[in-house]
Amino acid sequence: MKSKKNICVIGSGFSGISSATYLADKGHNVYVLEKNSKLGGRARQFISKEFTFDMGPSWYWMPDVFEKYFSDFDKEIKDYLTLKRLDPSYKVFFQDESIDIPANYEDLKDLFESIEEGSGEKLDLFLSQAEKKYKVGIQNLVYKPGLSIKEFIDKETLKGVLKLDIFKSMHSHIRKYFKNEKIIKLLEFPILFLGATPKNTPALYSLMNYADIKLGTWFPDGGMYKIVEAMVKLAEEKGVKFYTSEEVKKFSYSKKEISHVITSKKTYDTDYVICSGDYHHFDQNILEEKYRNYSSSYWDKRILAPSSLLFYIGLDKKLKNVSHHCLFFDKDFEKHAEEIYSTPRWPSEPLFYASFTSKTDTSVAPKNHENMFLLIPIAPDLEDNRIIRERYFELIISRLEKLTNQNIKDHIIYKKSYGIRDFKKDYHSFKGNAYGLANTLFQTAIYKPSIRNKKLKNLYFCGQLTVPGPGVPPSLISGNVVANELIRNID
Ligand SMILES: Cc1cc2nc3c(=O)[nH]c(=O)nc-3n(C[C@H](O)[C@H](O)[C@H](O)COP(=O)(O)OP(=O)(O)OC[C@H]3O[C@@H](n4cnc5c(N)ncnc54)[C@H](O)[C@@H]3O)c2cc1C
Repeated sequence: MKSKKNICVIGSGFSGISSATYLADKGHNVYVLEKNSKLGGRARQFISKEFTFDMGPSWYWMPDVFEKYFSDFDKEIKDYLTLKRLDPSYKVFFQDESIDIPANYEDLKDLFESIEEGSGEKLDLFLSQAEKKYKVGIQNLVYKPGLSIKEFIDKETLKGVLKLDIFKSMHSHIRKYFKNEKIIKLLEFPILFLGATPKNTPALYSLMNYADIKLGTWFPDGGMYKIVEAMVKLAEEKGVKFYTSEEVKKFSYSKKEISHVITSKKTYDTDYVICSGDYHHFDQNILEEKYRNYSSSYWDKRILAPSSLLFYIGLDKKLKNVSHHCLFFDKDFEKHAEEIYSTPRWPSEPLFYASFTSKTDTSVAPKNHENMFLLIPIAPDLEDNRIIRERYFELIISRLEKLTNQNIKDHIIYKKSYGIRDFKKDYHSFKGNAYGLANTLFQTAIYKPSIRNKKLKNLYFCGQLTVPGPGVPPSLISGNVVANELIRNID
């Protein structure tokens, strides 16, 4: 190894823990500074009235990325997490019916066939192409730092890239295969993870349909926070030190480098710094103006993934007619998308998502009780107050009761809301975004905010506002990518 360095990682979300672990594995002295009292960033967990709530991510997709992460350190994921594949993968509510999406592929094909004749076979074709995209994407695209187009100019990548449908939209790609509106909605749903509309998302991302249908939806015993705990355990085994309730306030500089990191508690010497929290905050609020990578107008032009209004609810009874993951597509998707992206405002008739982890895991709620998480995607930076939140709560609870045919309101024994104001306060989130930047074509790879600072040679960035993008698996990858780049540049 080259000489041992002091490396400061700011932020303990997935990307921060990932980058810290890769660097400590190479023998460096790595410490993580986290402003909140708990590790995990947007994936924190809280327990109240015996209900355990994951605060952010709830879908465990792309298990191969997690397996690779642990195997990179010669570990097996099963030694850290107990995972089960959910079946049904999820349930979708339309206006006139609800449909369980089976985990078994042949059953899913039968379901498609029962909705649209011939769609089973078309699904084979659609997914064989999606599988190729997934493999090219994982092998040749996402593990790259996105610093230069040259990274993508090798024979293998180019061969793959030509088949990737980068210039076609998901909207038209899906409609080439399928006509039925319900099937189209089912296949467009994974795009919501990317934070953009099907019209603005390259057809490359049908790879997400492969992830959904073929690789499956999983859940770790104890909740998504168990992933954070597993990663922290591995990081600590490698020697990473974590410090919580310690917010980084500023840097001091010497010879075009950051020399010290100054927190709410003390000052740290450092050789290298990785900012893994919201990129915009470090670029615009922490760095001195002359060291910023971007202008405020650059940031204002970025297309953000949506924010969300969330509710964490404890119920004193078990619910019927719901599954672990439920999607409520009983209203007009286009209209809601327009109210997020084109004319940002509080949605008139929002689609929403509900998760009932106690359907799978008895440890997250008391016996005969239910744990309910509700998420309404909304435009970033909207006005957010108690009255608005309450209005939306009433609106979706009434729909939930009607669609699942039961009384819910009278059984609420715990309730907490979380929204734009909280995202800003807890994470310094730019415009209160929940999932970072949308994965549109011109916000992909080399078009993302750069993982390197152009003026300070020891400053790097990772996380959901840079490559490869939003989501838990991309955040793990982002930490890996930035660690590799930093290691390559260590003198
Ligand atoms: C409601 C919600 C639902 C989601 N659902 C899913 C899902 O189902 N599946 C999925 O794959 N992804 C999901 N995501 C996305 C996923 O959770 C994120 O992309 C991922 O967790 C981001 O990790 P990160 O490391 O980039 O950032 P973060 O998790 O935001 O971590 C950054 C950390 O930096 C800290 N920080 C910021 N500023 C400072 C400072 N000055 N000093 C010290 N520390 C600082 C913050 O406190 C934070 O802990 C969801 C996100 C949300 C919000």
